[in-house]
Amino acid sequence: MAKQEDIFKKVISHAKEYGYIFSSSEIYDGLSAVYDYGHNGVELKKNLRDYWWQSMVQMHQNIVGLDAAILMHPTTWKASGHVDAFNDPLIDNKTSKKRYRADVLIEDYAEKLQQKANKEITKAKKRFGDSFDEAQFIATNPRVVKYLEEKKAILKRMGQSLEKEDLADVKALIEELGIADPETGSKEWTDVRQFNLMFGTKLGASAENATDLYLRPETAQGIFVNFLNVQKTGRMKIPFGIAQTGKAFRNEIVARQFIFRMREFEQMEMQYFVQPGEEMKWYEYWKQTRLNWHLSLGLGKENYRYHDHDKLAHYANAAADIEFNFPFGFKELEGIHSRTDFDLKAHEEHSGKKLQFFDPEKKENYVPYVVETSVGLDRLFLAVFSKSLMDEQLEDGSIRTVLKLPAVVAPVKAAILPLVKKDGLPEVANTIFDDLKWDFNITYDEKDAIGRRYRRQDANGTPLCFTIDHDTLTDNQVTVRDRDTMQQERIPINEIKLKVQEKVAVKHWLKR
Ligand code: ATP
Repeated sequence: MAKQEDIFKKVISHAKEYGYIFSSSEIYDGLSAVYDYGHNGVELKKNLRDYWWQSMVQMHQNIVGLDAAILMHPTTWKASGHVDAFNDPLIDNKTSKKRYRADVLIEDYAEKLQQKANKEITKAKKRFGDSFDEAQFIATNPRVVKYLEEKKAILKRMGQSLEKEDLADVKALIEELGIADPETGSKEWTDVRQFNLMFGTKLGASAENATDLYLRPETAQGIFVNFLNVQKTGRMKIPFGIAQTGKAFRNEIVARQFIFRMREFEQMEMQYFVQPGEEMKWYEYWKQTRLNWHLSLGLGKENYRYHDHDKLAHYANAAADIEFNFPFGFKELEGIHSRTDFDLKAHEEHSGKKLQFFDPEKKENYVPYVVETSVGLDRLFLAVFSKSLMDEQLEDGSIRTVLKLPAVVAPVKAAILPLVKKDGLPEVANTIFDDLKWDFNITYDEKDAIGRRYRRQDANGTPLCFTIDHDTLTDNQVTVRDRDTMQQERIPINEIKLKVQEKVAVKHWLKR
């Protein structure tokens, strides 16, 4: 079995074992691509959401929040283009009866070409050492040039065919490239068809007069329809942003990658309203700003890259993904889209209401352009969780499993551990616990030998452990142990709060 698969399996089983993620309705054998978050998962998810919200809303004078309903007037989805165009190209394998997204099959093929090029580059780097000029090598090495040109041509052709809705050509491309069913190797494909991803539901008591509704497939439209409400009541001036987090629903064709692709998931989106003509400036700004935010979590610069879109969605004039190195390779984590004035104009047309900004300096009305940043909270969770989980060999040869979550988002910030369950140590530990709990989510544990308790907290992702021992009773000091370095030091009880604060404060992390 490939190593990546092993890592991914370990991620899934660790997430379950430590109360991070369970299959939905597991006692009924689960529901495909729907998941529940356990006692640790809910905290990690909340902390990631808060970290995003603080960086977007609290840190920007001109960005405010919103919480729009999941159910919206059905015309919303006609106006946004989702009824007509929120489709994925679907293809079935006739032999295996497995269903795939045609564009994903092609993208995976293109990614393999990229990996071949990367291999050549790594080999050359080793051979030439310090004198290696990577840019020149990429531009001139015949093999690398061939791989990358092929990749580009494939993605371009796919983009154009999808744009023109030429599904026959998408199938032709799959056949020409000899793409086989990844699970069975069969090349017997059906035609490519379009499949609408929205979940339908009904509003109303009786079947005759019920209204057809959709569960929102993105949170963005709730922001667009409230654009004027927020602009007027918040007295916002362009440029300004509206941020929102919340559930979205998509009837995904293929959903076999744990919480990477779910049918019910959470998005964190921000729509930034700008003057027409200034959108590319802000698009570049948000591309960089969002990448910096991800980097602030400290998971390693090498695990992120941009992917500029060849195929643009119906509403966009520029789009890029921030991709992350998941256990199954680089995939989209966040999308940055320059959405033009498509959405506001479409809602103006369908509602008959004006959605314009009056520019007091120019003394004119205009429909603003929009730059969107959209990140999946569950995908972010998977990125952070999977990169933090590791097995480490210790000096004595033993292995410890440790979840090196960024402390700012760790579910439990500290564990309070009396060395033994007697001699007054639990009483002191409880006093410390009762003081700290006002400021941090912490835990108390007095069961098992101290070494086992440390390991339990390591696997749980708790950044700091404070141990109360017999000396504490006389010197008022505790031992603090750091999850990542395993270093221990003695500190006075009255410095514990500061110690935790230094480790977890949003300010320290966002400023990195
Ligand atoms: P993909 O190409 O992977 O289907 P997308 O381009 O359709 O994603 P967007 O519509 O740009 O995704 O949505 C913005 C973000 O929402 C994505 O970057 C991703 O993090 C998240 N997201 C989208 N679909 C899902 C899903 N099914 N499950 C979990 N997160 C999702």
